[in-house]
Amino acid sequence: MLDYFDMESTLSSEERLLVDSARSFIDGEVDDIGKHWIDGTFPEELIPKMGEMGFYAPNLEGYGLPGVSETAYGLLMRELEACDSGLRSMASVQGALVMYPIHAFGSDAQKEEWLPKLGTGEAVGCFGLTEPEHGSNPSAMETRAEADGDEYVLNGSKTWITNSPISDVAVVWAKDHSEDDTPVRGFLVKTDRDGVTTNKIDEKLSLRASITGEISLQNVRVPAENVLPGVSGMKGPLSCLTQARYGIAWGAIGAAQDAFETAREYATDREQFGKPIGGFQIQQQKLAEMATQITLAQLLAHRLADLKESGEMRPQHVSMAKRNNVRMARDQSRIAREVLGGNGITADYSPMRHMANMETVYTYEGTHDIHTLILGEDLTGLQAYQ
Ligand code: FAD
Repeated sequence: MLDYFDMESTLSSEERLLVDSARSFIDGEVDDIGKHWIDGTFPEELIPKMGEMGFYAPNLEGYGLPGVSETAYGLLMRELEACDSGLRSMASVQGALVMYPIHAFGSDAQKEEWLPKLGTGEAVGCFGLTEPEHGSNPSAMETRAEADGDEYVLNGSKTWITNSPISDVAVVWAKDHSEDDTPVRGFLVKTDRDGVTTNKIDEKLSLRASITGEISLQNVRVPAENVLPGVSGMKGPLSCLTQARYGIAWGAIGAAQDAFETAREYATDREQFGKPIGGFQIQQQKLAEMATQITLAQLLAHRLADLKESGEMRPQHVSMAKRNNVRMARDQSRIAREVLGGNGITADYSPMRHMANMETVYTYEGTHDIHTLILGEDLTGLQAYQ
């Protein structure tokens, strides 16, 4: 895949190995992702196989997790998204949004119960933050938890939750009404508890190879020991989102690279007016622009990885990289689609699938607009989103 500034030469042997094994896994194990996309299904047989490959939270340590470098983790997200955003979303949610909060904020018992089986894919988790009336502003959430003896009672509804219909456990963020200032807390809710329903959302026109659903909570009783003890307030969910957005900043590059390579190959094969279309200046301009934008995004992601590794990364750095790289992938996959002419609108080729997926990626994990406002606030000291 495109690596115009030879960034891969800077990789360690461990990082190289992870990229190679992710590529051969996708080549060998992912059977016709385009068909899954059309059918609106996720290849669920891959869930334990991805666990066996160590694709869930490999940047964490302990509980069987290898603690690979942040660059290696980013490259893994890139390889998965080059296949499809659905695959990367599976790994992002399981790793950054479910295992990360348990690892960072969970009790020893919670870690021992959940991290090994989430790591192998024996259990599937989901992250319940968004509500029907509260998306970009989750701090206005209405889901409430009330203490009752040694239990909490949860009521509320979450929507747009990746993997909720196939999850064993949900990290549900709710306001704790047993305290005066109703702080947001994380609850580990087994989805087979009485009062939990997880209806699937059908007919999505984006991220079709990924299961999305709701979580409805009606008088759901969970033991008090299921609260994540190490965090309270919006810092809990927001710190998970920083982890997941980091992976997205890398992942989007993979989608764009795959769209670019498809367009480059097509442009050199397809002939019109007696020569390959890649020999016409207009098509070359498109390929040159795509390659340049992908390269800029790669440089940003590699620097972001270094900042994360050294502990200097701020959430605003992640906002800039997520915002830029996803917009880049959204724009460039559309241009790749153009190069393919009529064939570009079929599922036989990846660019239009990536382009449609990018509509979700542009919207979830903080919309493009919200990241603009986060950067605007950081640059001016003036907050503009309320
Ligand atoms: P809204 O917040 O209603 O925004 C609508 C529009 O208004 C957007 O363009 C937005 O940018 C703009 N806007 C909002 N506020 C402002 C402002 N202050 N200034 C200017 N413009 C503004 N959530 C989870 O919790 N867990 C998941 O696993 C998950 N998976 C998802 C999977 C899919 C396929 C999708 C589509 C979404 C998923 N989400 C998930 C939800 C996602 O994070 C939200 O959709 C997103 O945060 C936006 O919220 P909203 O859809 O309610 O849009």
